[in-house]
Amino acid sequence: MRVIIKDNYDEVSQEAFKFMKEVVSNKKDAVLGLATGSTPIGLYQNMIKDHKENGTSYKNVKTVNLDEYVGLDKTSDQSYVYFMHHNLFDSLDINEDNVNLPKGKVTDMQAECDRYNKVLAELRQDIQILGIGANGHIGFNEPGTSFDSVTHTVELKQKTREDNARFFASLDEVPTHAITMGISNILNAKQILIIATGENKADAVYAMVEKEPSVECPASALQKHDNVIVILDKGAAKNLKKSY
Ligand code: PGA
Repeated sequence: MRVIIKDNYDEVSQEAFKFMKEVVSNKKDAVLGLATGSTPIGLYQNMIKDHKENGTSYKNVKTVNLDEYVGLDKTSDQSYVYFMHHNLFDSLDINEDNVNLPKGKVTDMQAECDRYNKVLAELRQDIQILGIGANGHIGFNEPGTSFDSVTHTVELKQKTREDNARFFASLDEVPTHAITMGISNILNAKQILIIATGENKADAVYAMVEKEPSVECPASALQKHDNVIVILDKGAAKNLKKSY
């Protein structure tokens, strides 16, 4: 793992953008693995600015997203498909046909997991963007998830629902289940870029980077991958013992 520590969120976002820009500049039909949550918004704003100012094109780029809430679709502004359009896709020249997310509102969730695994087998991520949960989750792979997991549905931990309640009118409205890429789907990416800011991520970041890999911290699976960039602000890096 290569660990980069920056002073603040804006610098973290700019640093993350440099890696993204390198991928999309070198490969016009790159496959981008994308994430939702507060953390990547700054990266996405940098991508939009660069697209508008420098004409960087996403016409032939393909995307795969990590996860979606079960029961929500694009008509809900809390869905991840809505988030991605609102925060990124609608401001780029991306082709809607090239956008892939797991679907949260289907009658047969297992069939949807199977479909999404096939999509991921065909679209290996050139870069996978990740945030990390305060409990160490990546995507919605909660503590205890096997490192061999593929796309599956999951019951969300109470901590995750509480952390995400800020996007909903109340905790009761936060869905109880989600569909997520598995950890092995994430590890299949050629390069992984994980971003974390704020002291509330410091314990999870420490377990990811410096503790023995364990299913108790799903993000620690990334130690098994040979091309992982970890970009942190000082708060998220607070508990690291080594110097980087
Ligand atoms: P956040 O979520 O970026 O909103 O902190 C990260 C995550 O839960 O993966």
